[in-house]
Amino acid sequence: LFAGPCDFVLGAARLEQLPAMDRPEIALAGRSNVGKSSFVNALTGRKTLAKTSNTPGRTQQLNYFDLGGKAYVVDMPGYGYAQAPVEQVRAWTGLVKTYLRGRRSLARVFLLIDGRHGLKTVDGDVMDLLDAAASSYQVVLTKMDQVPKGERDARVADTLAALARRPAAYPELLATSSRDGDGVVEARAVMARLIDE
Ligand code: GDP
Repeated sequence: LFAGPCDFVLGAARLEQLPAMDRPEIALAGRSNVGKSSFVNALTGRKTLAKTSNTPGRTQQLNYFDLGGKAYVVDMPGYGYAQAPVEQVRAWTGLVKTYLRGRRSLARVFLLIDGRHGLKTVDGDVMDLLDAAASSYQVVLTKMDQVPKGERDARVADTLAALARRPAAYPELLATSSRDGDGVVEARAVMARLIDE
């Protein structure tokens, strides 16, 4: 699954551009700069994956990557950077809301959260959306190498406590560092399981 390249397949700005629902999809969401590209690169062992989320024209697209011919990784638009959170989420929801509601092949959304900062208001807004769409989502804490060792367990516990109040949230999270490679094996295992189901 992770042996080959994770090639860019297409970017969809409109729903009719989405590929056929013939294989499972794992979508990645998170605030701009959360470490989404680095996470995908760490998962796939790549160093050169296009920074699609920051490529002009691709920012508001759903960007599809091929995972071993068996699944898609879908890079969702980053949110919550520069603009007022409320407007960002509104712009984000236009394309994404319908996708989340109607995409039967969507196995799970990985919601990336910067481990240094924890959940922000805008992440809560996005979780509201995911809950409303009944999309199963799982939090991936990123940049955990930047969190002092003695604080990591508390960061994980606090995040899980917040998620426990949410109907669609998966009750486990992944604590990762793309820099150190922590949590990458675990993330791959979760993806492999989702794809086999
Ligand atoms: P994206 O905008 O969500 O795709 O984020 P990027 O993957 O481009 O990462 C944003 C910034 O965070 C870059 O400067 C990365 O080098 C840094 N970064 C990403 N992942 C990690 C990590 O695990 N640890 C550390 N220390 N920095 C990271």
